[in-house]
Amino acid sequence: MALLADRESKLLIDGKLVAGSAGVFPTINPATEDTLGVAADATTADMGTAIEAARRAFDDTDWSTNTELRVRCIRQLREAMREHIEELRELTIAEVGAPRMLTSGGQLEGPVDDLSFCADTAENYSWKTDLGFATPQGMPSNRTIAREAVGVVGAITPWNFPHQINLAKIGPALAAGNTLVLKPAPDTPWAAAVLGELVTEHTDFPPGVLNIVTSSDHTVGAVLSQDPRVDMVSFTGSTATGRAVMTDAAVTIKKVFLELGGKSAFIVLDDADLAAACSMAAFTTSMHAGQGCAITTRLVVPRASYDDAVAAAAATMAGLAAGDPNSKRTICGPLISARQRDRVQGYLDLALAEGGSFACGGGRPADQPKGFFISPTVIAGLNNSARVAREEIFGPVLTVIAHDGDDDAVAIANDSPYGLSGTVFGTDPARTSAVAAKLRVGTVNVNGGVWYAADAPFGGYKQSGNGREMGVAGFEEYLETKVIATLAPQ
Ligand code: NAD
Repeated sequence: MALLADRESKLLIDGKLVAGSAGVFPTINPATEDTLGVAADATTADMGTAIEAARRAFDDTDWSTNTELRVRCIRQLREAMREHIEELRELTIAEVGAPRMLTSGGQLEGPVDDLSFCADTAENYSWKTDLGFATPQGMPSNRTIAREAVGVVGAITPWNFPHQINLAKIGPALAAGNTLVLKPAPDTPWAAAVLGELVTEHTDFPPGVLNIVTSSDHTVGAVLSQDPRVDMVSFTGSTATGRAVMTDAAVTIKKVFLELGGKSAFIVLDDADLAAACSMAAFTTSMHAGQGCAITTRLVVPRASYDDAVAAAAATMAGLAAGDPNSKRTICGPLISARQRDRVQGYLDLALAEGGSFACGGGRPADQPKGFFISPTVIAGLNNSARVAREEIFGPVLTVIAHDGDDDAVAIANDSPYGLSGTVFGTDPARTSAVAAKLRVGTVNVNGGVWYAADAPFGGYKQSGNGREMGVAGFEEYLETKVIATLAPQ
């Protein structure tokens, strides 16, 4: 059956597709501003019902201990998504404004395929480890370390890479034996709601194991951080909201896993191919209109080459005009909403007010009268103390900053409240390694190396979050550790 056949998505609660008690809310195509359809609008009461279902499924079924069932269900979900991949692709382009090109990677197919990693990890995981015999406090004891699911997980996600972020929580959390309630962003409800249709039609997931609650109301998500029946919150989004989640969760001492914002630096050393490096920085910042938390939006270049660096970045960006995400050639699609577009425009106005100038871009493209587009923009003439160099803009905006040598470049990169990612370009491996080692970030790209992969943990230092998503470390975020000591016979 076609997905979202009647252009109206439902909630998934306790194994059933149901309407939202608050009615419906629209989902908008950000490239055209047209309404695509509607999504079920949940209330806090609906969220309570979903939490209760997840609690029951965790407490009263064998889900948390039946690894074979979990592995089968996750593989079924992956298969179902693969079977519907072309429908999902069109939906992702329409609802997320994701350029078509990116749907064969991180926007869709990559994370769908990565579900295999979660299933394989659960299948091969050492759930029990023998810690051996010892005599702590003189008592002969045989000790075992058991790893167990945390319980009910509340997952709260943003709109920029919805499949990647939804699945990078659902996959490991369920594979590890938890049950889960997903609360996706109001801007991309369908990307999450399709999972409900696929789960009910194509998988053996027991009722209540996976619940999906779409809502136009942010406070519905906050229930997940507050409710004592939820054991853990896994949140991806802005640092400000992450702080609110952590504060709410503190009341019940929930485990909190946070993937937050970034303002990552792209360092070009003085022995690097300057034009190639700056071109790559410009390309990366333009991708998906800069709506990626780990995008390197500060280009930190040798002072002597500053003007050449600005020119190289601007030349690349000028060739990457913001446009129709349906086109196979588009790199820079629209921003997700009028609100985000206006926010980015506010930062561009601020850049001028702070004394900066635009080497290209600077606002809405003249040839796009509809849609939430901003042209890829290079900001020149500012240093790292400018607000546009410190705050996350979440748009296709690259600020070029001069450095006075490797140590100064590292100091500039680390002079940020964030610590998500970084890039270093240079020809001397000893220098690039030394710089990579000093960066206070969770992932580093050296000369174009790609850190994004199912088996590679991803996450941030400082105010970019805590914990790691993906890889075995990402799976283990969803586990508790229990030590069982048995008195040994004398
Ligand atoms: P956001 O923080 O506004 O919203 C994220 C989610 O939180 C949404 O589902 C929203 O409904 C929900 N929410 C809002 N208020 C809440 C509250 N008080 N309690 C609980 N939930 C609440 O973020 P956004 O605008 O949707 O996404 C953009 C942000 O996400 C950027 O800052 C970006 O850097 C960040 N992000 C981080 C990563 C990462 O892995 N580090 C990945 C993608 C996006």
